[in-house]
Amino acid sequence: MKIYNTLTRKVEELIPNEPGKIKMYTCGPTVYHFAHIGNLRTYIFEDILEKTLKYIGYEVKRCMNITDVGHLTSDSDSGEDKMLKGAKREHKTVLEIADYYTQEFKKDCKKLNIRWPDIVSPATQNIDEYIKIIKNLLEKGYAYISGGNVYFDTTKLKDYYVLTNHKEDEMVVGARVGVEEDPSKKNQADFVLWFTKSKFEDQELKWSSPWGLGYPGWHIECTGISIKYLGEYLDIHCGGIDNIFPHHTNEIAQSEGYLGHKWCNYWVHGEHLNDINGKMSKSKGEFLTVSLLESKGYNPLAYRYLCLKSYYHNVLTFSYDILDGAQNEYNKLKGKIKNIIKDNSTVDNVKYEEFNNKFKDALSNDLNTSQAITTLYDVLKADINNATKLELIRSFDEVLSLDLLKEESANITEQEKQQIETLIEQRNQAKNNKEYDKADKIREELLNMGIIIKDTREGTLYEKK
Ligand code: AMP
Ligand code: ZN
Repeated sequence: MKIYNTLTRKVEELIPNEPGKIKMYTCGPTVYHFAHIGNLRTYIFEDILEKTLKYIGYEVKRCMNITDVGHLTSDSDSGEDKMLKGAKREHKTVLEIADYYTQEFKKDCKKLNIRWPDIVSPATQNIDEYIKIIKNLLEKGYAYISGGNVYFDTTKLKDYYVLTNHKEDEMVVGARVGVEEDPSKKNQADFVLWFTKSKFEDQELKWSSPWGLGYPGWHIECTGISIKYLGEYLDIHCGGIDNIFPHHTNEIAQSEGYLGHKWCNYWVHGEHLNDINGKMSKSKGEFLTVSLLESKGYNPLAYRYLCLKSYYHNVLTFSYDILDGAQNEYNKLKGKIKNIIKDNSTVDNVKYEEFNNKFKDALSNDLNTSQAITTLYDVLKADINNATKLELIRSFDEVLSLDLLKEESANITEQEKQQIETLIEQRNQAKNNKEYDKADKIREELLNMGIIIKDTREGTLYEKK
């Protein structure tokens, strides 16, 4: 597998710390509002990376945080705490807001067939871990206390700007545009590890610490969560390109200061989705969400298809015209696949391997998803029997996750769909609790509604009788 590594600014062969195993960390959402489809482009790219690694034979353990506290970083925050602002907007507590938007994010992921990572941990659940790391950084002289806060001293590391092409002046200026001076810092680039004093005095969530009642800075959560769940050596760390500086730069500084050795070997970043006015942002007011696309009649998977047709390194500029194009192409593709009749032919292993290798080669070449989709079209056109075609499509869809073989459930309204999915979830819970009678009753209830369910490796599927 070859992948572009932001750390070395090269496409490199991926060599994991432990043969055959990959530990992967991805920065999660700040849950003060819905995710916009730009955020979701990043999660689609990370999903494809995880599934590609599995497809080519790696065992992948993936962890993601949920930023429900502490996305503040000192002076790069120009005026408001987004979580508090979200809570005030909706007359709820910060934790209620966090819980609601985490669930909404989960639903968006499901609609886009983005696999929920193995470990998903909210920042508020790992406070002890941050305190442990900050204590250690203070002991080693990487951190200092000033004006009531604990800061990381960025001059203490040999190569603080390792991830950012060493454009030191540019980076610091970039981080400080339109930002207030923080007189407690020793150096411009220093950042807060733990706040007890800040201009955001009305924080709802505070914890006691050796430095007083307070709350963590943003960057420490990813360091803490990653090391807690994935250990001291990380193979891959992902995010959108806006995370390179200061977030990932600061994660490296504090993690390597704490660990005393190199932390993560591969940093992989996805380019942004822009709208015609520039970068998409949640704080801009109205923004594009999966639900908005659905309400306009788009299939969320048409958006996934659009993302896969573009290279994750390139900026993608969103317009309804290009989404229309993607939806048309996606529908035609599904139509072509539907016409491949399951017959008596058997899989031709030689042909299967030939196309499957092409598909793997495309993805292993720095995630060339567009080439992988071309290989799918090549399969449809190829002079091979139907069983081989169908098996190749099924395999490719393990990575592409476009529901290529799934028949649309006919005549099921949105309301029915929600009811069915709630019942299926209740049945799965009953099965997990070994309440088999209850699970059977729910299956019967679904049957009475005319719904047949099928348990598969990918989860419970359903169709109308
Ligand atoms: P946030 O919820 O703001 O913390 O962002 C969640 C993820 O979305 C991060 O990995 C960001 O780098 C990424 N992101 C933010 N804006 C965009 C965008 N316009 N296009 C693609 N990814 C984005
Ligand atoms: Zn992060």
